Amino acid sequence: MSGSICLTEAGLAGMKGFMNDEPKKFARWRKDMVDRQLIARGVADPLVIQAMNEVPRHLFVSEALVDSAYGDFPLPIGEGQTISQPYIIAEMTQSLDLKGSERVLEIGTGSGYQAAILAKMVYRVYTIERNHPLFLQARTLFDRLRFHNIVTRYSDGTQGWKEESPFDAIMVTAGGNQIPSPLVDQLALGGRLVMPVGGHFSQDLVKLTKTETGIQKESLGGCRFVKLIGQHGWNE
Ligand code: SAH
Repeated sequence: MSGSICLTEAGLAGMKGFMNDEPKKFARWRKDMVDRQLIARGVADPLVIQAMNEVPRHLFVSEALVDSAYGDFPLPIGEGQTISQPYIIAEMTQSLDLKGSERVLEIGTGSGYQAAILAKMVYRVYTIERNHPLFLQARTLFDRLRFHNIVTRYSDGTQGWKEESPFDAIMVTAGGNQIPSPLVDQLALGGRLVMPVGGHFSQDLVKLTKTETGIQKESLGGCRFVKLIGQHGWNE
């Protein structure tokens, strides 16, 4: 009998979820990241700060990189791709002026970290990835961490996701030489889009706002992202 009680307890412990089992050091590193890399540099949006304090970034990188997950730099995520430096993620997310009720489209799911940050902040996140192994890996992780408000898709994100449009906000997490026109078309009135635009090795972070009178454009500064590859992006 005692054997079966043990099994039940183990089963219950397993069901409590990963956040509860996470070693305390990760929560400490995460708070340090938020304080030193984000708040100290001017990130002020409480929703961004809360999301970055909550999402376990170390679960979005490979086991070998877990101890570097909260560092002030980008990290490789396999397939030649990278997860951005926490500060860049915070800046891009903050630039979208999200309040909580939005439907947001992300292009370039990658590790899934950015989508998870958005998912903590808004109603629903639609995220598209063109690399099949990364798509599968992120989808599995979203299930495991119970991110039920993230909808994934394996396709060329430069064409957007017409059936689910219009979106209140769109974030492109790979760099192209121009903003794909389908994405601008699929932005709601009042909607914001942020994307790195420029050459292969460096880009300018550009924010668009769709208004009654047209598209407003603003530059948020220099950055360096992997390539956006697709019909309205770079060739493979
Ligand atoms: N947001 C990601 C960053 C991933 S790096 C994260 O939080 O980890 C950029 C990703 O964009 C890569 O995974 C790359 O495969 C993907 N990508 C590049 N071009 C794409 C396209 N046209 N459609 C969808 N994904 C694309």
